[in-house]
This record gives sequence, C-alpha cells and structure tokens, in this order.
Amino acid sequence: MPYDYDLFVIGGGSAGVRCARVSATHGAKVAIAEERFWGGTCVNVGCVPKKIMVNAAEYGGWIDDAPAFGWTVRKLGFDLGRLKAARDAEVARLNGVYGKLLGGAGCTVFEARATLVDPHTVQVGGRRVTAERIVLAVGGKSVRPEIPGAELGMLSDDVFDLEVLPRRLAVVGSGYIGLEFGCLFHGLGSEVDLIYRNELPLRGFDNDIRTALKEALAVQGIRQHAPRQLARLDRAGDGVLVTLDDGARIEADAVLLATGRAPNLHGLGCDAIGVECTAMGAVEVDEDHRTTVPSVYAIGDVTDKLNLTPMATAVGHALADTLFGKNPRRASYRDVPTAVFTNPPIGTVGMTEADAAALGPVDIYATRFTPMRHGISRREGRKALMKLVVCQRTRRVLGAHMLGEDAPEIMQGIGIAVAMGATKEDFDRTVGIHPTAAEEFVTLRTRTREAGVRAAAE
Ligand code: NDP
Repeated sequence: MPYDYDLFVIGGGSAGVRCARVSATHGAKVAIAEERFWGGTCVNVGCVPKKIMVNAAEYGGWIDDAPAFGWTVRKLGFDLGRLKAARDAEVARLNGVYGKLLGGAGCTVFEARATLVDPHTVQVGGRRVTAERIVLAVGGKSVRPEIPGAELGMLSDDVFDLEVLPRRLAVVGSGYIGLEFGCLFHGLGSEVDLIYRNELPLRGFDNDIRTALKEALAVQGIRQHAPRQLARLDRAGDGVLVTLDDGARIEADAVLLATGRAPNLHGLGCDAIGVECTAMGAVEVDEDHRTTVPSVYAIGDVTDKLNLTPMATAVGHALADTLFGKNPRRASYRDVPTAVFTNPPIGTVGMTEADAAALGPVDIYATRFTPMRHGISRREGRKALMKLVVCQRTRRVLGAHMLGEDAPEIMQGIGIAVAMGATKEDFDRTVGIHPTAAEEFVTLRTRTREAGVRAAAE
C-alpha cells in the first residue's frame, strides 16, 4: 500500500469517531487523532454535561410542586460542586467508552494535534503519516463578541468549570446555548438576565413557539432585555458590570457570552493544501462531503451545515459506508428533528409556518393548554403549545412544533411520521395515548387558521 493508512480522521468528536469506527469495521486501515478529549464538544462540554445540568434544574421545580401532591418537603439548597462531581464522573466514563470503541474497532489512536501537510499527509505527534483519504472533523468553538471587556465573560466551555452557582448570571444571545444555560441556571437558583438583539428569542424557529417561549421565560422571572445589544463589560468588584446599547446597566456575578460558534480551523493547514472555505469560514464541501481537495473530506460542525450531534454522526456514518462499505449514500439534512432544552423545552421537526406559507397555502392546527400535572401544581409558566403546519394541497404535515414538558421525547416519534410524509389524516386516525400531552398531536381536529394563501395566488 502506498500510504500508511486508508483513512486518517482529524478530530475525535461525534462525527470523527463514528466515521473512523465504521470505516475500520468495513475493513479500512484507519487512524484518528484527537488533541483534547474523546467525544468532542457533545460529550465533554456540550449536550451530555448540559443535559445533566438540565435534569438537576428540573428537580428544583418538582420539589416546589410536590406539596400540591401531598408531599411534605423542604428545599434546603443546591450544591453545584456536588452536581459537578457527579457530572464530571459520568463524562469521564463516556470518554473511556469512546476510547474503547475506537480501539475495539482496530483504529490507531493518536492523542495529539494533527495538521495538514499535503493532500495525503498529516503531521501528528512529531511525525508525518500518510493516508489515501483524510477526513476533517475538527468541530467548532464558541466565538467571543468584539466588545470592550469581552474577556470578562465566560464561553460555554467555561460554564462546566464553575464550582459555585453564580447568584446573578447575565446571558448574551438567544440561540440554543444562551437559552438552555439561561433556563437551567434559573432553575438551579440563579437570577438570570437574558440579553438578545431581536424582539423574539431563538431566531429560525416557528414564531408561535418563539412568542410562547418569551412569555414562559417572563412568567418564570427570567428578565429579558430585548431587542438589545451588549455594549461593554467592566469589572465590578468580584462581579461584572454589563452595559447595554441603550446605556442600561446590569450587575452580574458571571456573564455567559453565547453569541455563536465558528469552525475550529485555526492552524489546521487548510490554506496550505488548497482546502477552500465558505464566506462564513466553514470548510466548503459538496453533497458527498468532499472538499475542494479530492482526497480530503469534512464532516460535522466544521462544515457549519446543521450543527447537531446526531447529524454529525449520521454524516460520518454515511461517509464511512460510501468510502469503504460498498454502500454509497448521503445522510439527509431534511426534516431533522431537534430540541432546545429550555424550560419548558422545545421540540420541532420540519418547516416553520412562515417558511411553509412562503411556498403555498397551509392549514395551521394549534393548541395551548396546561398539562394535567400543573392543574394540580399550579406552577406558573408551564403552558404547552403544540402546532402542526399542514400543506393544503397534499395534506402532508410539513412541520410539527411543541413547547412544553417532554417535547424533545415526543418529537422524536413525530419526526418519523413527518419524514415519512404522513398526512394530517394519518395523524387523525392514530389513536391517542390517554392521558398524555402527546395525544394532542393526534386530536387536533379544528383548523386554527390558514396561511400562505396570497403566496400561492401570486
Ligand atoms: P446560535 O447561532 O444558535 O445563537 C447565537 C445567538 O447569538 C443568537 O441569538 C444570535 O442572534 C446571537 N448573536 C450572534 N452574534 C451576535 C452579536 N454580535 N451580538 C449579539 N448577539 C449575537 O449559536 P449557539 O452558540 O447558541 O449554538 C451553536 C449551535 O450549536 C446551534 O445552532 C446548534 O446547532 C448547536 N447546539 C445544539 C443544541 C441542541 O441540540 N439542543 C444545544 C446547543 C447547541 P441572531 O439570532 O439575531 O443571529
């Protein structure tokens, strides 16, 4: 063989590990390099530790609800240090699992930084290694906004180092990360100020969901400063003084800057070998995830397409099957369900009302209700919203959206139906599971309104 390996994967996150492991299972000779931690963002400083913290925050609400259900309880406090220890132990366990998976599949593992030397060569751990194909799976990292004092703010990675709960937390940005952390820290007991630049949080999601989320955050006591920009951060004693573009000032013990992430390409050597990037700084790939250098591929967040772990693993798997499994295929970026672990959480799949209505007439079916549990608990801010966007012509359900408890769990199943092209009538003839919130999705009989009629007439 003219090369040391059939495949060299740079980056041991969700995309890279799956691609390396499956390629090796197909019989390829594979090496993979990771400079920081196996499992990447998701396992170490993302989905996994975040979800454990979301779970911790949920207990706070349940303790508050319990007396209404007959329990005598006392909420004595929350210890972030104890949660951190349990969470970090679980993350360490998963790191080990990832390492074992790679070794078990027969991959050569480099715990070192790898950089590109030429289209078939990488520099790793002080030596040069060649491969027929190279996969870039180096992920992304949070970006600090360019404002005076930005260095005083935490990025999302830093949140996982906190040993003590900030009494007052200011969060900048209303994407997934800002909202999830804002909600979970509020649930753990912090006072939270959320600063974002549009009227509604969570741009890109269905507007009814965004409106309902804004309302739910307000009812719970999360202070929203919107539409506002961050002007500067200054040190104020042990804390930080946050100044907004209208001159308003917020005192906080900690500030989380959650204004987006960018591909992690610095120093990788893309320029040197001719791997081109998009205007947004992501690696440019074709539909098969091949870069502008034919022997080099890119998968996961470094391509900045749909920055979700399950998408990264799906793409990594498809690439491995294509290159080494005699099964050329592409993972579909359509109808990908997603969840935002706010409080209450959001689950969504398919098109928003606005996007669907821009293409033609749609029927909207929506309901808002208080889940049965909270008829008893009387907890504020628990109202759920469920919504279906249905094509008038084909009756296909184009989008399903939910804000409410268990929305992420519910939406996984709805996602199958939407991806299969289920019609509203398919939903209607499905018998509900009673009593659940999920049954509302199959009992939405009355059309709430129609939309997009003008677009269709034009
Ligand atoms: P997002 O791009 O989702 O959100 C960034 C937020 O910062 C938006 O509110 C954006 O506003 C705002 N913003 C951007 N630039 C500025 C600026 N200069 N000044 C003020 N505000 C600004 O990024 P996140 O970092 O929250 O998340 C990154 C990605 O990670 C997500 O898109 C998602 O794909 C993934 N993720 C998924 C999770 C999940 O599946 N549950 C959890 C966490 C992350 P505007 O909307 O106006 O642009």
